Amino acid sequence: MKLAALGEVMVELAPQASVQGRSGGDKPLLAQSYAGDTYNTAVYIARGGVSVSYVTLLGDDPYSEEVLARLAEEGIATSAIARLPGRCPGLYMIRNTPDGERYFTYWRGQAPARELFADADRREVLKAHLRTMDCLYLSGITLAIMGEEARAELLVFLEEYRGQGGRVAFDSNYRPRLWASADAARAVTSQFLQQTDMALLTFEDEQALWGDKRAGSCLKRNSSLGIAELVIKRGAEPVLLQLEGELTAIDVPPVPRVVDTTGAGDSFNAGYLAARLQGASPQASVAAGNRCAAQVIGYRGAIIPRATCMAAAEIEDCVTSKQVVTMV
Ligand code: ADP
Repeated sequence: MKLAALGEVMVELAPQASVQGRSGGDKPLLAQSYAGDTYNTAVYIARGGVSVSYVTLLGDDPYSEEVLARLAEEGIATSAIARLPGRCPGLYMIRNTPDGERYFTYWRGQAPARELFADADRREVLKAHLRTMDCLYLSGITLAIMGEEARAELLVFLEEYRGQGGRVAFDSNYRPRLWASADAARAVTSQFLQQTDMALLTFEDEQALWGDKRAGSCLKRNSSLGIAELVIKRGAEPVLLQLEGELTAIDVPPVPRVVDTTGAGDSFNAGYLAARLQGASPQASVAAGNRCAAQVIGYRGAIIPRATCMAAAEIEDCVTSKQVVTMV
């Protein structure tokens, strides 16, 4: 099974510790790494034993080179990544406040990833690559950073791709600041959900986008779009799984020490897709998603060290295990 993940990877600067500034006051010591929602998911899917290609655009600067090196270290194919001369990836910084909240500030307006599917020649080459994949994974962030015409081209391509038997997995990952308006986000997200086979949505994002008070309205709206496999993540609350109209709630095992929930949804998606693409049932794949997320939230940062991560063998367990599920 082969999966391509489409999106943006950014340079991340995150505070590690504080040092005393010259004029007094604490100055954060920053650690530099790389992250991005579809990138995080791609890394964990590859660690779960599925062959992954990451699809984005990068520049020709040292940070772009390092992203390619990181992907290669994870065994992720980079052959479909286009390079734009003179450009560099987007950047974001994390700021921790004394009350434990985390704030994100982005510099990503000029990122080469914004040109995904935009250039006609590059697009044709990319389509040929994507047609060789069993599954494509993208998110609302992928769509939000793309140009309008490129998005329309991608939508048409997804219809063709699914017509040929390809499967599309999608996480709406609503980030209001990336969209011109909530109406625009709702319209685009709905269009792409209609070309989605596996929707891996977070209830909090659905609430922010649609104003859902309860999960019922979220399930109803998304099922009316004809999604075969609908998964709603709700933090520590049971995951909702709706298959062909049948609803199941699957408990999230307690995590003894939640250190940092960055990348929880991304890693859940990875566990789910890695298991699903290797033949697990949707129920067992939810369990794999929970396990993958549990490991990631036990450590700081979106990408945890490989040694501490769910191995492909654990995905195998999920493929064969029988999950206990409770009906809603
Ligand atoms: P997002 O990161 O998109 O906001 P959620 O917060 O819904 O997503 O979390 C995604 C998944 O991460 C959950 O379905 C669950 O598997 C795991 N998770 C998140 N928070 C917790 C928690 N407090 N305890 C246990 N698991 C959690």
